[in-house]
Amino acid sequence: MRFESASIMCTPALQSTDRFGDVADYFRQHKDATLCAIVDAGMRPLGCVSAAEFKNLLASPFGFSLHQKKLADALMQPGFIVVNMREKVSEALGQLHDNEAILRDGLVVVDDAGRYVGTMSGLCVFRTMNALHADMLASLTREVAERKEAEGKIKRLADSDPLTDILNRRAFVREVNQHILARLPFACAFIDLDRFKQLNDRYGHAVGDEVLRVVARRLTRHPEISDAARLGGDEFAFVICQAINAAALAEFIESVHADLMDGIDTSVGRVFVGASIGYSVHLVDANESSAMLHAADKAMLRVKSQGGGVSRFDPALDATGEDGRAIELALSAAIATGRLQPAFQPIWDVRASRIVGYEMLARWPDSGLSSDPSPGQFIPIAERLGLIDPLFWTLADKAISSLGKDDHFLAMNISPSQLTSDHFATRLEKLLNRYGVDPARIELEVTEHVFFGNLERSLAVLKPVRQLGVSLALDDFGTGYSSLSLIDQLPFSKIKIDQSFVRGRGQSFVRGKVLQATIALCREVGITSCTEGIETADDLALVADLGCDQAQGYFIGRPSWLRDGGQIPSRALSA
Ligand code: C2E
Ligand code: MG
Ligand code: MG
Repeated sequence: MRFESASIMCTPALQSTDRFGDVADYFRQHKDATLCAIVDAGMRPLGCVSAAEFKNLLASPFGFSLHQKKLADALMQPGFIVVNMREKVSEALGQLHDNEAILRDGLVVVDDAGRYVGTMSGLCVFRTMNALHADMLASLTREVAERKEAEGKIKRLADSDPLTDILNRRAFVREVNQHILARLPFACAFIDLDRFKQLNDRYGHAVGDEVLRVVARRLTRHPEISDAARLGGDEFAFVICQAINAAALAEFIESVHADLMDGIDTSVGRVFVGASIGYSVHLVDANESSAMLHAADKAMLRVKSQGGGVSRFDPALDATGEDGRAIELALSAAIATGRLQPAFQPIWDVRASRIVGYEMLARWPDSGLSSDPSPGQFIPIAERLGLIDPLFWTLADKAISSLGKDDHFLAMNISPSQLTSDHFATRLEKLLNRYGVDPARIELEVTEHVFFGNLERSLAVLKPVRQLGVSLALDDFGTGYSSLSLIDQLPFSKIKIDQSFVRGRGQSFVRGKVLQATIALCREVGITSCTEGIETADDLALVADLGCDQAQGYFIGRPSWLRDGGQIPSRALSA
């Protein structure tokens, strides 16, 4: 049987003078051709190969396929138009292998119905194989590149914080590990934004998100910062891996801090968030990654508790005490179950020489931690976790319910973040009514070392508090940024001068002068002055000489628990 008897489809190959066409073109034009017939030099059919098998063959080098005799296996396929060709096939294969003419003249192409559609030379097959092979290689290369890109994309997604597009915590820890393996000097810094929660509460999450994105951009624009990350919430971190000395490093991190303190333009106008930054230096402060991150975190928590700024890890200050994370974990349960207790420290009227009131100070006894945390440790954490308000109300309830019938006033510390809630005054009024306590006996102390986010808002909350008859004291005067403007703008009736002024007066002429001037200023503007940190009879005599109205400190009385019967201890004390 000769192929001429088969019904013939016209192909460009048939029209070529040497009767062999370009198989590559053929395959491109005749996608439906699924069989290839093989003929010898005399145009006698030798067998056929399916297009699928043919493609397989093309995928491997031509010569290799022939040697493997894959072609021979593929030749005997059902539907083949020439039968019983086994000997001839092996013969033809032998010839194909050795004989260039057969290679040159070798192939007839039929479609899957066995119809003759064209012929091709061995050379064309070879070229086609190469072309297809190249195509396959190209598509394989493309596929590999695409896969690589997809993998890169997945990795980038897995590594980055979706909101800010900088590294996430996991990737950051990995990068810190890499720096440690490189054994080059580097420093690692932790940032916690100040007043971010208030900002979020006030303007909503969309504005909060805008701020976080700007913070991320500000971090990445410093070429000295090799890795910037958002660890979650309003916590960020970065690595500086340049071999710079301690002073230059401190200066650089101060400049990052200053950068973050700048106003941020948002859809509701310009807002300001501060930042607390703690950092640690590899091989000096810590050797391995978790210790480095821990050290930076500790330094950050300390500086945050001091009202913000920048500080390097200091083993003397940061290595002792309970781990901040452990406090974080235990604190919310302790507040919810009423485990925090009020302690009371007496406040002394200097001229009348008697106790006139008590300041309530939070205590956390039987915390179950390795040592009971001090307010200096857990109050900033409560602020950070948004627990300061529930903390206040549980303690206020206990303290107000235990007020005796005397005329002592009760001072309670509140955080500026509480001055964003309209319900504050109403809730306080209800509490006082419940226990029948005269609001005139209550004083609220607001510390000034934490910046007031929004004075207008604070004023709106404090006004009804003042109208109740509750008085307000500005606490820790002299430790913050805005002392004098705060006295002017908020309705304070007392200033509590920070203990550093009376205690530091021996070492610093200026501190002594500030103490003197502040007491004089209070007298001048008709505000009660109270000096904190009175530890000795000398301290008390000094503030008495300066005309201070009230005094508070260990010399007068340390903070102590409620006595049996729930009455605040009244300790007579003569100076
Ligand atoms: P503060 O309101 O200025 O309270 C005075 C702090 O100075 C208390 O520390 C007190 O124990 C300490 N102190 C009093 N007299 C002396 C003295 O003579 N020498 C020395 N060295 N220290 C003295 P404490 O109880 O550790 O509280 C620290 C700060 O934590 C408080 O400073 C206050 O800002 C904050 N805090 C305490 N309880 C609460 C609370 O219930 N709510 C809020 N928001 N803050 C609180
Ligand atoms: Mg206070
Ligand atoms: Mg104070």
